[in-house]
Amino acid sequence: VLTPLGSLLDAARERPAAVGAFTVYTLEQAVAVARTAERRDAGVVMLLSDAAFRAPNGDLLAAAVVAIAARSRVPVCVQLDHVSDLERMRRALELGAGALMADGARLPYEENVALVRAAVELARAHDAVVEAELGHITGDEEIAHAVAAGALTDPDQASDFVSRTGASCLAVSIGNVHGRYREPPALDLERLAALRRRVPVALSLHGASGLPDALIDAAIRGGVAKINVNTELREQWFAAVAHHAPAHRDGLRLLALQERIVDSVAARVDSRLAAFERGAAVEPA
Ligand SMILES: [Zn+2]
Repeated sequence: VLTPLGSLLDAARERPAAVGAFTVYTLEQAVAVARTAERRDAGVVMLLSDAAFRAPNGDLLAAAVVAIAARSRVPVCVQLDHVSDLERMRRALELGAGALMADGARLPYEENVALVRAAVELARAHDAVVEAELGHITGDEEIAHAVAAGALTDPDQASDFVSRTGASCLAVSIGNVHGRYREPPALDLERLAALRRRVPVALSLHGASGLPDALIDAAIRGGVAKINVNTELREQWFAAVAHHAPAHRDGLRLLALQERIVDSVAARVDSRLAAFERGAAVEPA
């Protein structure tokens, strides 16, 4: 069933655990996320990347993902991820997205505030909510680069940002990067603790692909309630195609191949959801 992001985040914060948010580019990925969530009885977020939404037939993918989410037995929220264009935000909301990630992190501070405020107003008209980002989560770059560039989220600024924008969730930059980590990942947990004290809304962590479970646990105990996964599921999709396509080429068994791909991606989703739930099982230190 389609579910507002807020109720998923509230439930996660209470346990505490993190809601798994998975970027889906294909129907196999979306079905894998939905099936795994049902098997685990876990609410999840399906993320639609802005690139996929902008692509030809992006609105068809959005409609399909919303349909898969709506038919699911567990709560699912569809969110348009990393978007800075208000017109695309509006279209996604009309197609059934329940949340937006309004990305103004590369903009000057006041422009980021203005973008997120406009997104919040737009979302409110559709009973949807907005996640925003402060500090810049780099991609495929060295973590040291983000630290040097002052791109980590500042707790005082974050407090001002959230109260002025009305964002319901804040993506933090605490050493996490999009894509694969080139250096062993490290998270600034002191900064996370300061953010948790200053920011009343849910915190999210992007760039979980390759983060070891111990860091995931620490982030959840430190107050992260939503974790985004993209790269890992794309890697898994390609690995599954490479592995299973040759055996299915004889007889052109496309449906059987699709099932193998779904199973393979689902296994990865399952291990991530298990890690995100464990926060609830670990005794606070
Ligand atoms: Zn992200």
